[in-house]
Amino acid sequence: MSNSAFFETKIEYLKGIGPIRAGILNKELKIFTAADLIQHYPFRHEDRSQFHQIKNLTADMPYIQLKGKIKYTETIGEGSKERFLAYLRDETGDIELVWFKGIVGIKKFIQINQEYIVFGKPTEYNGRINIAHPEIELYNPQEIKEKGTLFPVYHTTDAMKKKMLDSKAIAKVIRQILPQALPHIHETLPDEILQQYQLISKKEAIANIHFPKNLELLEKAKFRLKFEELFYTQIKLIRQNLLRKVTYQGFVFKSTNLLTEFYKNHLEFDLTNAQKRVIREIYQDCTSGKQMNRLLQGDVGSGKTIVAFIAMLLAIDNGFQACLMAPTEILAEQHYQSLKPYADRLNIPIDILTGSTSTSGRKRIHDYLENGDLKILIGTHALLEEKVKFKNLGLAIIDEQHRFGVEQRSKLWHKNDTIFPHVLVMTATPIPRTLAMTLYGDLDVSIIDELPPGRKPIRTVHRYDSHRLRVFGFIREEIQKGRQAYIVYPLIEESEKLNLKNLMDGYESIARAFPEYQISIVHGQMKPKDKEYEMQRFLKRETQIMVATTVIEVGVNVPNASIMVIENAERFGLSALHQLRGRVGRGSEQSYCILMTKYELSKEARERIKVMVETNDGFEIANTDLRLRGPGDLAGTQQSGMLDLLIADLAKDGAILEEARKAAQKILAEDPDLQLYKNACIKHQLATISKNTTNWARIS
Ligand code: ADP
Ligand code: MG
Repeated sequence: MSNSAFFETKIEYLKGIGPIRAGILNKELKIFTAADLIQHYPFRHEDRSQFHQIKNLTADMPYIQLKGKIKYTETIGEGSKERFLAYLRDETGDIELVWFKGIVGIKKFIQINQEYIVFGKPTEYNGRINIAHPEIELYNPQEIKEKGTLFPVYHTTDAMKKKMLDSKAIAKVIRQILPQALPHIHETLPDEILQQYQLISKKEAIANIHFPKNLELLEKAKFRLKFEELFYTQIKLIRQNLLRKVTYQGFVFKSTNLLTEFYKNHLEFDLTNAQKRVIREIYQDCTSGKQMNRLLQGDVGSGKTIVAFIAMLLAIDNGFQACLMAPTEILAEQHYQSLKPYADRLNIPIDILTGSTSTSGRKRIHDYLENGDLKILIGTHALLEEKVKFKNLGLAIIDEQHRFGVEQRSKLWHKNDTIFPHVLVMTATPIPRTLAMTLYGDLDVSIIDELPPGRKPIRTVHRYDSHRLRVFGFIREEIQKGRQAYIVYPLIEESEKLNLKNLMDGYESIARAFPEYQISIVHGQMKPKDKEYEMQRFLKRETQIMVATTVIEVGVNVPNASIMVIENAERFGLSALHQLRGRVGRGSEQSYCILMTKYELSKEARERIKVMVETNDGFEIANTDLRLRGPGDLAGTQQSGMLDLLIADLAKDGAILEEARKAAQKILAEDPDLQLYKNACIKHQLATISKNTTNWARIS
């Protein structure tokens, strides 16, 4: 909003609100000022231009509008059973309207043979269609002409409705305030952009987002406001990015001898084209003289680890150290196990530091690290500890970004005093492009969009619990062919105890069903040492079945395991399901993922299962996830203030985002400091936005 003083007016001082309603709006919707109120946009509009015919009404219709005369009324029942009935008639038939509450008022209001507009939801009662507690108003053609026929519907809460502050009441308040507010609204986008994208003015947009004159203007208002919102998030992000690149110098990793040796003598497969491309991108960053901040996205199994190792070789070849931080001990251990053989072949000292590293081990690592002998350190959060000091850290790699906050990222940066190390963030949770652009606008993004050759796509099926015996039979057949299976149980967040019980019950039934096989079990309450022991048994094929909670979700690599059974699959989110499935399909054998559920499923659970069965494509799954849940719930997005969007929806407005980003890029390329007169409104608006964000922080 423009930073005119009017918009800072506290809502209790606005006409028609008063302290009581203001208090409710403060508390329930965090609406404090006139600006907040005007920016409480409706989430949809009801089209009141259409009148339904009474004879066509059915109980499965949504809210509909009727026009007709009241022919007859009656009050029946007594006390708490009292009801007021009114019969509405149009050219096609009659319908019963019924009120259980507020009878005195409605009785007074309704007059026989008057023409009314009625709005409500048809339902079936005793074999007939009626409408309970409809909205009812006198039919007034002049008023309809003035107000338009698109009615705003505002978000409210139950507490608000109880206090009679429903959507209609909010509409009324905003209708009163709007004429006062409009003269204070200034344009926030430069003419150039308004013209290029054919945007309506801010003033027109605000007026029409609440009370559109027609559908076309409503669409234009939405587009204009979404564009503006996304434009400013992009301006902010791009500016941060530019600033960072100017401010932070980076080490230059020119030498590539180690890399060449590794390619020539030690790498036992050909890199995929996608891997090569990403390595080139990293190399370009690391030789640019500026600090790298790159996000590497790649679906599970796409081969990110080797890319990480190659980036490390660059650092080491140029006299620097490298570290890799993973979110769990198991993962850190796994990275260590897979990188150590490579490092050994090249005589590069490598070690691992986690919470369970012994005190003497710790001491040794600290010393080696500080004198620069240790070249690669892999570990968990333990790496962030004060005591862990590098001689010259040149590259910090973070695996599975979504478990680490931005703050932790920056802690790693500061592991080098003079110049920040290059940072590579790896994630297997594919983030839709639109979201990545907004969330990680400060990171450059590389994508590995190709799996290593020879992988057979995982076959995914959905089975109901009642088919468990058949599923067990299938598992037995596969184990007899030499394969291994995971059987995963969900985490029940509310109760650790219940969790363990669930898992143990499962374990027992599996032990009973497969007496001839060895079974491993891994869960969150085990000591890391014991977990590791069990994982190792499974890896060495001493056990054929691994029963586990989601601790194996991320990164674990057992190529011979070809079956993933997910119990209570309806309880998992899409990204967790996809991650779990990614634990199989790592070898050359056909792999299977079996999603077990109960019979009754919610609509959303059914959609999740469906998309899992239909596709292995992580990006498609992430898009579905985004559509089902909205961006706010996606892992890692909560901390991002960038997602406090008022009107744009990243799941749906990707196209507008792309346009807004282009526009922002163009402007900043020409005028990075926004010094030109024509961009003054952008500068002004940025100042207003940042002021408002500070206010927000204070209030909430
Ligand atoms: P993720 O991207 O999920 O971390 P990994 O790095 O664990 O995937 O790689 C999965 C498996 O694929 C590993 O066993 C790895 O050795 C193998 N791999 C990686 N790149 C290639 C390639 N270009 N060709 C063949 N196998 C590869
Ligand atoms: Mg990995």
